[in-house]
Amino acid sequence: MNLENYIRDIQDFPKPGIGFKDITPLLSNPEATSACLELLASTLADKNINKVIGVESRGFFFGILLAQKLNAGFVPVRKPKKLPFETISASYELEYGTDTLEMHIDAIQKGDKVLIHDDVLATGGTAKAVCELVEQLGGEIVQMNFLMELSFLNGREKLGNKEIFAALTY
Ligand code: 5GP
Repeated sequence: MNLENYIRDIQDFPKPGIGFKDITPLLSNPEATSACLELLASTLADKNINKVIGVESRGFFFGILLAQKLNAGFVPVRKPKKLPFETISASYELEYGTDTLEMHIDAIQKGDKVLIHDDVLATGGTAKAVCELVEQLGGEIVQMNFLMELSFLNGREKLGNKEIFAALTY
């Protein structure tokens, strides 16, 4: 199955000049979703991952599926003021200004083996901020995985020598 057939290109979203990769055709097809989950999980056997982080909001979909498959806990990372308990935060640069992500202070224990999941790796700013959150709480980042890597944006360069897997690369 070619997963690329289930990703739709949307021009000028969310702003003029941006080409957006829409994952809703993939999510609406159970066989494609299942194939994508198997592909993401295929690189995770025997890594003893006990926490999967999903990044708001499109990282939640496969994040929770991966957590169940690995028999690991699921941890949401969210935009500011969405989480109800005490949080830690990390900020990252946008083209104009900065953005912040938050995680519950008790979401990761020291020594947890963590998978960070999001739908897209673009410039890497989001993923780098999530790494900072995990590291603040003493978690060990075993792998970061994505449905898609937009390799022309060089996000990997921001992430040091972390293990990174993408189901699709553009
Ligand atoms: P970055 O911080 O790496 O520049 O951007 C990654 C974040 O932006 C991810 O959380 C991802 O959901 C979102 N994102 C950026 N570009 C796209 C895209 O083309 N399609 C989708 N679905 N998400 C994108």
